[in-house]
Amino acid sequence: MRVLVTGSAGYIGSHACLELLARGHDVVGLDDYSRGNRGATDVLGAHRSFEFLQIDLTDRDATRRALSARSFDAVLHFAALAYVGESVDEPLRYYGNNVVGSLSLLDAIAAAGIPRLIFSSTCATYGEPSPERIPIDETCPQQPVNPYGRTKFMVEEMIRDFSVSADAPSGFGYAALRYFNVAGSDPQARIGEAHDPETHLIPLCLQTALGLRGSLTVFGTDYPTPDGTCIRDYVHVQDLIGAHLAVLDALVDGESRVYNVGLGRGYSVRDVIDACRSVTGADITTVDGDRRPGDPPTLFANSDLLQTELGWTPQRGDLRVMVEDAWRWLKTNPKGYPA
Ligand code: UDP
Repeated sequence: MRVLVTGSAGYIGSHACLELLARGHDVVGLDDYSRGNRGATDVLGAHRSFEFLQIDLTDRDATRRALSARSFDAVLHFAALAYVGESVDEPLRYYGNNVVGSLSLLDAIAAAGIPRLIFSSTCATYGEPSPERIPIDETCPQQPVNPYGRTKFMVEEMIRDFSVSADAPSGFGYAALRYFNVAGSDPQARIGEAHDPETHLIPLCLQTALGLRGSLTVFGTDYPTPDGTCIRDYVHVQDLIGAHLAVLDALVDGESRVYNVGLGRGYSVRDVIDACRSVTGADITTVDGDRRPGDPPTLFANSDLLQTELGWTPQRGDLRVMVEDAWRWLKTNPKGYPA
């Protein structure tokens, strides 16, 4: 297959490219580098079957030209701005990038006649489900509580409308995968998680273990959970990509599918810190802080659908394995990718 991967220089997109290449596919990566890492492209670019295009998806003409100039079997659409707090401060930037960029991508998919699309969505589209809806299954009402979640929800809706319209290529099939917390890095540490700024719990813990930060603040210790800290569902980035490839294999013409991608298991912030301490052997100083606005106490998936319909079985589902893989990358790349 020839696959277009948008957001190929980002954390998840770059892992998708690496796995597609490992499985013998031709991969065209697309990124505007507004958040992505050039270093990831350098690693992927060493592969003969990888081509890179620096394009801003909101540039409709450039996107159309790029997609129409090649023959693609599928698009994996990861490109997005993804900081909840930033989306509250700069909503227009989020709607502009995530929604308008996706609109332009759909326009180009229509023009080029690409038959498959897998969209990177998020559990943030569920908002803050009531306790009886947890674990969250795919039928849980989508009521996002911040602009980031709303952009992803809007794009899901847009793709759905597109898919049943005359605009869609003949036989168009798509899936939206709603991710929970993604963790870990390529087990061989060729690429890894490198955000700037970093806001995610596991990399921040590991940076603290390395001495790059003095301490880690625990955002809230008075939640109604067994240890008072928030509970989340962590999935290894490689298993997440495995889910994309499984759904891509399974989709048939005219089909649409939606899956949660999580393990259906919750870990508290303190569980994660303990795992990081155990893997690194470092103390990891923590400071108990206030709750972070917008953090629901407990979020974890019911991912039965993915497992039963696609036979998806996580290979690196142990929290410790996720932390070990993240640590291997960070230890060798403490400042992220080489500049
Ligand atoms: N968290 C924390 N301290 C940090 C970063 C995160 O206590 O410095 C908590 C955060 O409040 C949440 C959990 O760790 O409960 C996971 O946060 P992350 O930002 O990694 O992912 P999110 O769940 O927000 O997508």
